[in-house]
Amino acid sequence: MQELMNMDIAIVCHTEFGFVKNKKIIFNKSANKGVTNGVENLTKLADKYGAKITFAVCPEVVQYFPESKHEIGLHIHPGCKEFSIGENSFFVGDSFLWKQCTQSNNSTVLVNHSFKEQLSLIKTGKDYINESFGVEVSSFVSGRWSIIKETIKALLKAGITHECSSQPSHKTSYYDWSQQPRLQQPYRPSIVNYQEKGNSKIIILPISQTLLYGNVNPEIIPLVGSKWLLACFLEYYHNKMPFFQICLHSPIMTDSFFINQMDKLLNFISKFNVSFKFASEIDQCDKHQIPLNTKKLYYINAINQKIIKDLSQSLIKKFIRK
Ligand SMILES: [Zn+2]
Repeated sequence: MQELMNMDIAIVCHTEFGFVKNKKIIFNKSANKGVTNGVENLTKLADKYGAKITFAVCPEVVQYFPESKHEIGLHIHPGCKEFSIGENSFFVGDSFLWKQCTQSNNSTVLVNHSFKEQLSLIKTGKDYINESFGVEVSSFVSGRWSIIKETIKALLKAGITHECSSQPSHKTSYYDWSQQPRLQQPYRPSIVNYQEKGNSKIIILPISQTLLYGNVNPEIIPLVGSKWLLACFLEYYHNKMPFFQICLHSPIMTDSFFINQMDKLLNFISKFNVSFKFASEIDQCDKHQIPLNTKKLYYINAINQKIIKDLSQSLIKKFIRK
């Protein structure tokens, strides 16, 4: 008889201020409901399906965080800079940490801060959250997913055991996971190169990656449709991947469109042989071979006009470059 597979599912919610406008998040610091209502609504949905949520909490939102029995982790946005989406502008950077920690520049990505500054931000944030919630924080997500090797060293020193920011196969100016296959599974990194396996005390939990569109996050549904995320889940599940991570930001859970989408996603996933776990409960790692070629037929049913347009544009670009 074929062995039944049991896939661990982690849902990691970046818990911060903000609201949704035209299906996009405006991270406005006066929008407390992004935390109060966002956490409440996600907790209700998770409880409906027996799912577990890891709330990666920004220190600045602590006093707005409602009662929840789910996991409390740490989310760090360094610096202080103004950003805008359309007509809406907002500041990125944790106001609590800006007051508490010395930062040599206002960059909102950890890669632009020294090891000493990163350690101070992580340690100060962790101590504050531990004290406020009466917990021992062990899970972490970096603001804007920005990580370098000094970040891993700082996390180890601060006693963080589970890092949830990695985006396998992707690279920008402020993070690099390009050495990993898209379906990368949890692993203990080498201290010399965090993209390679080693024997550090920390476990890296990659965010699951859809074909072409990156993170499994309900926030991409307005672009690609909900079926694309389901297809990605089926790709991981039927290729016997033992771990799947969904990420999201708490403000989307104040919006009926996204609440409905998250409801559908959890309803679909919960019918399979899966175990919902807090990030800090994930312990199976370094055991599985990642297939280079996976079954991608699930995506065929999920293709829509937008995806066809994107695909044809990228093919045209490739053709022009040649
Ligand atoms: Zn964030």
